[in-house]
Amino acid sequence: MSRQALDIVIVGGGIAGCSAAIALTAIGHKVRILEKQAAWRFQSSGIFVYSNGLRSMQQLGVMEDMIAAGFAVPDGRNSYFDHHGAPITDSFYPSADDGKIPAILGIKRAEIHRVLAARMQRSGVQIDLDSSVAALEQDEEGVHLQLTDGRQLSCDLLIGADGVRSVTRALMGLDLAPRYTGFGVWRSVHQRPSELTVKIMMMGPAKRFGIMPISADRLYTFGTVAEPEGRFFDPADWPRLMQERFAEFSGPAAPFLQELDAEAEVLYTAVEEVVLPLPWHRGRVLLIGDAAHASTPFMGQGGAMAIQDAVILARALTCHSDLEGALKVFGEARFGPCQFVQDVSRAVGEAGASEDIANLASRNAELASTAQEKVDGFYTRLAALNDEAEAILSQ
Ligand SMILES: Cc1cc2nc3c(=O)[nH]c(=O)nc-3n(C[C@H](O)[C@H](O)[C@H](O)COP(=O)(O)OP(=O)(O)OC[C@H]3O[C@@H](n4cnc5c(N)ncnc54)[C@H](O)[C@@H]3O)c2cc1C
Repeated sequence: MSRQALDIVIVGGGIAGCSAAIALTAIGHKVRILEKQAAWRFQSSGIFVYSNGLRSMQQLGVMEDMIAAGFAVPDGRNSYFDHHGAPITDSFYPSADDGKIPAILGIKRAEIHRVLAARMQRSGVQIDLDSSVAALEQDEEGVHLQLTDGRQLSCDLLIGADGVRSVTRALMGLDLAPRYTGFGVWRSVHQRPSELTVKIMMMGPAKRFGIMPISADRLYTFGTVAEPEGRFFDPADWPRLMQERFAEFSGPAAPFLQELDAEAEVLYTAVEEVVLPLPWHRGRVLLIGDAAHASTPFMGQGGAMAIQDAVILARALTCHSDLEGALKVFGEARFGPCQFVQDVSRAVGEAGASEDIANLASRNAELASTAQEKVDGFYTRLAALNDEAEAILSQ
């Protein structure tokens, strides 16, 4: 069903906001992004995009450029080791479309944003940097915004894609603070030895250390560990602290832990979650991405969920001529898959954190016998939930 072109303002130029801008301009709407950062600069290190996220990138027309900028892991192979470097098992993530969509892509976040920005430029998306929303009101005619730089704007639809601490969410009157999950993630970027082409997961005592190729010559590492709430670490200390946190890891982790220094782009993130019940909209204001459903990172799916939000939102607006109906259907279609990812990811993190250190050998044995089954079960269930979402969209 066709509808008249909408004037759309998106708050936040992260993965969700940029993806939505691309998807919505592609179906004829006019989009402006308000991004609070004064420069188009995104915290770096790497990110995984699994085949479901790559499929959404393909639907946005950016998958090939992403693949060229990143590193697709051959056969989607994930090799597990214990923290001393002894192999445990391998598992394989599913590719899609008879292998035309790779199973896992590692890519630098800055590269994702370079590709998305180039696509937005071609689509005529207006990006206002150093800009945000200070107040909003809505009536039958539209949403009326007071911007932080003093300007006033009106639009037909306002999309809050401003992440975990969404200001849009607060301005909608939703009183929801993100939940600290008890985990910190430490990441770093290194030269990639040419022979390191798989995703590596090292299973420590209630800690994980991963290694993932992200380009022809770079890889990133990521370590997860319990950290107390509200802890501030001076960025100047991050390389040393990361080294200390994962000091018991040897094997494949050792060379990268040893070379942690100011050049290694070490980044610390305290992980927060956002669990927002439906509806994700109020009138003409909608939340997408982390602003609505931020997940712990254990399944590497938050970015994929943000991109899929964009694709499904464009579909909902195309299928439903009334805005209220489209936004309602969007939320109903996306809630199931996003909640599933959040629940599985949270359970994986909590199981890891509550490990009995005396039982690492039995944990490893169980992992060896169930790793592939768990991967297959997760992706089969996610696909089934996406099928259910399709049915909701076409009702
Ligand atoms: C440690 C860690 C590792 C992760 N690893 C992966 C992974 O491997 N794979 C994966 O798919 N996902 C991963 N994720 C999840 C993924 O990063 C997020 O789900 C994804 O970035 C969400 O995108 P977003 O655009 O919704 O939010 P964000 O990325 O947070 O973007 C929000 C944007 O809004 C801007 N903004 C914020 N407030 C305002 C405001 N008031 N006004 C204007 N602009 C504003 C910000 O500057 C930013 O540009 C990980 C998350 C963490 C914490």
